[in-house]
Amino acid sequence: MSRFLKEQYQSLEAYTPGEQPRDMQYIKLNTNESPYPPAPSVVEAMTGEQVELLRLYSDPTAKHLKERLAGLYGVEPENIFVSNGSDEVLNFAFMAFGGNGAAFPDISYGFYEVYADLYGIQAEKILLEADFSIDYRKYCGKNKMVVIANPNAPTGMTIPVSQIEEILKTNPNSLVLIDEAYVDFGGESCLPLIARYDNLLMTRTFSKSRCLAGGRLGYAFANPAIIADLEKIKYSTNPYNINRLTLLLGEKTVDAESYYLEKCAEIQKTRAWTAEQLEGLGFTVLPSSANFLFAKTDKMDGGELYRKLKERGILVRHFTNPRICQFNRITIGTMEQMAVLVGTLKEVLYENV
Ligand code: PMP
Repeated sequence: MSRFLKEQYQSLEAYTPGEQPRDMQYIKLNTNESPYPPAPSVVEAMTGEQVELLRLYSDPTAKHLKERLAGLYGVEPENIFVSNGSDEVLNFAFMAFGGNGAAFPDISYGFYEVYADLYGIQAEKILLEADFSIDYRKYCGKNKMVVIANPNAPTGMTIPVSQIEEILKTNPNSLVLIDEAYVDFGGESCLPLIARYDNLLMTRTFSKSRCLAGGRLGYAFANPAIIADLEKIKYSTNPYNINRLTLLLGEKTVDAESYYLEKCAEIQKTRAWTAEQLEGLGFTVLPSSANFLFAKTDKMDGGELYRKLKERGILVRHFTNPRICQFNRITIGTMEQMAVLVGTLKEVLYENV
């Protein structure tokens, strides 16, 4: 730390991203990326000519991308904000709307706490129930920003939209942020509520179901006043927040919707198969609507299992929080990758027997 850092940041604990190893080729099941490439039309859009155009700034209004998203999801471009990954819109939301504090589950996306810290926002962490579900009643009438990932991470579990509606109704003067990063893998979206609740902000990403994690593209839906607030923050920090190539690939991605629906269905099929296999090996597996499974076994400590898999070339995500340290979060890869995982788990769990 240099002596120039503002005092308020000196004790900040930054977010720790999942490992992105460069030392060897792993079966990478640790950061919820898609195992599939983007649609062929997206790959083909990346021409030398497009790279040459990088001498020009990108469109700060992201007009074409917003129009396409509006068409696909049946909203107006004024209901949409686009961002450099959904992390950026989450960052802006905490910056803009966290004035009265923020409430979110104790076990959820780790970045919520980091953003709260970054902006000096009082964070109320509400315990998940013993079965890791969210009791929506604990989020009603909070009078502060409420943030819920639906499906939640790293559990993969969902909360019904009818319960989110109750949270919205009972917090009319606070923003309710629903993070739908994983909604395309079987979750229920609260998009239909956008027209009825002016306190709802939903965030989404191209990183998971749209096979574009490295492109860094996220978006949000809300009523136009909330979107205007986010735009104000964006134009006060980085107007060209999305590079030209990513904007182009994003547009092509929206045009290739059927390819991605097929891949999401494939992931769901592989998820069901993997869950069954893990249960067959004695794992407890939480019911997941996301592109990952959260699972634990009594046969081995969670951290040890993570290390043994890594030694054998498979990366999963382990968290040290005592409440979940027995678990590992396993991204759903291809069927072939999951078959290797299951074979390796058998070896690891039974090698000493
Ligand atoms: N929300 C949740 C719940 C996540 O797990 C992630 C992925 N780390 C994100 C948001 C951010 O993803 P991205 O910035 O790649 O859109």
